Amino acid sequence: MFGLMQDQPLLISSLIEHAARFHPHSEIVSRTCEGPTVRLTYSELRARAAKLANALLRMGVKPGDRVASLAWNTHRHMELYFAVSGIGAVLNTVNPRLFPEQIDYIVNHAENRVLFFDITFAGLVSDLKPKFSTVERFVALTDADHLPKEVDGAVAYEDLLDAESDAISWPVFDERQASSLCYTSGTTGNPKGVLYSHRSTILHSFMVCTTDGFKLGRADSVLLVVPLFHVNAWGIPYASAMCGAKLVLPGPKLDGKSLFELAVEEECTFSLGVPTVWLGFFKHIDDTPGLDVSKLKLERVVVGGSAAPRAIIERFRRDHGVFVLHAWGMSETSPVATIGNLLPAHESLPVDGQIDIQAKQGRPVYGIDIKITGEDGSDLPMDGSVSGDLKVRGPWVTKGYFKGEGGDVLDADGWFATGDVAKIDAEGYVQLTDRSKDVIKSGGEWISSIDLENAAVGHPAVQEAAVIGLPHPKWQERPLLIVVRKPGAEASREELLDFLSTRVAKWWLPDDVAFVDELPHTATGKLLKTKLRDQFRNHALP
Ligand code: ADP
Repeated sequence: MFGLMQDQPLLISSLIEHAARFHPHSEIVSRTCEGPTVRLTYSELRARAAKLANALLRMGVKPGDRVASLAWNTHRHMELYFAVSGIGAVLNTVNPRLFPEQIDYIVNHAENRVLFFDITFAGLVSDLKPKFSTVERFVALTDADHLPKEVDGAVAYEDLLDAESDAISWPVFDERQASSLCYTSGTTGNPKGVLYSHRSTILHSFMVCTTDGFKLGRADSVLLVVPLFHVNAWGIPYASAMCGAKLVLPGPKLDGKSLFELAVEEECTFSLGVPTVWLGFFKHIDDTPGLDVSKLKLERVVVGGSAAPRAIIERFRRDHGVFVLHAWGMSETSPVATIGNLLPAHESLPVDGQIDIQAKQGRPVYGIDIKITGEDGSDLPMDGSVSGDLKVRGPWVTKGYFKGEGGDVLDADGWFATGDVAKIDAEGYVQLTDRSKDVIKSGGEWISSIDLENAAVGHPAVQEAAVIGLPHPKWQERPLLIVVRKPGAEASREELLDFLSTRVAKWWLPDDVAFVDELPHTATGKLLKTKLRDQFRNHALP
């Protein structure tokens, strides 16, 4: 017997309609590529998204068609989020920091029909335009006065909107229809497309707004540092519309100074970003004597995408009273899967003990099931004692890549192998030890490169650290620590090893330390260890 409740599909258009009707005065504050800061309300954003939707329909964009964006965090990019998905088309947010060949691959693989781009990317688009064989229309996210000349035939976004009405009746369709498409960064092989649905997106948004999720609510002013081109900005645009949170979009400038100023001016209470961004934020504070940090109103900061170093968690807490929510996920998990909230039993712990828990990658939120398995695929105990392959399943976890790339990705019971190696403790906290391809195996035991890196960046002279495994005749592999020192800072190999010796097991101590000026990163800011392994292939360990 079916229940007698309404079968209303969970559609992204309902988010912006809700925000416009019930949070009409909540603001979206956006720095633009042209310079000025634009302020608008959800009701104004809805009107502009409706005009854009009408423009897309007029261009002949049909349900299921792909529309690409190459853009920073601005109100216009947000409008694309609601307009493209709202009419049943699919928004493919392309990461402009990728190599041009990867952008070319993605735009063609997705068969995008329209490309919206920020004026900062006009040169890139003009170079790649001859290769974009499926793109029929190019739209510059700007007004007629700033329309770049480089891209032949491009029209100005504001002109498109001006020609349209803001009246729209959003189409109603199956909630399982595709809504957006993000490509993984493809550190090995070509990028693969993860295709989200309206249903997965809305369920993920509900989770973001729960108390044991990100606690996102109407009272928040959100500094959205994580890019709209990086896994849907971790779902925040949708969740903010759901709860009517104020949204602050930094545009193209993500340096510490710009972020600090925005956080203060807009009284931001909540923010999200990868660790590197917060290092820049603190550097600005350190380099600016007399800066009044008491004006910061931040309460919670989500750090994810890479392991949050303990030093970041500690500093936020100690100097700014900010609680770091350490989160783990990936494109394939929409992306949020585990979040580092404390449990009631942890409230009585000393601050250091609480930080130990925050430094783990968090526990699963409802909607995500997790486990770890051994080399033979059998389940391993979740008591914090052993590491294994981390597997997940749930309604916002992928069941396959776009166009069937990579074949079947689920096992018979629906588990998705994340490619991460982790421990899970008795309370469900995940502690990531490595990516499976980065694991260091010494004498048959795993050494966690992430733990070593985190310990190394705790040294005051270390700006960034990476650990890779090098072949060893006796132990199979031994760790090499590669360090970028802070400008002007001194620290010798011996001093660093000494420092680490009180923080990690003796047999984990790197066999050597190499100093470099910078470390290679992927387009989403993760260490590119394949490149490091190549670079140090012939490094002789002492
Ligand atoms: P990519 O396309 O590079 O895989 P994702 O953004 O999907 O891009 O990255 C997901 C991966 O990032 C995870 O599988 C994990 O290895 C890493 N990651 C994400 N969050 C964390 C975290 N909090 N701590 C450590 N690693 C993380």
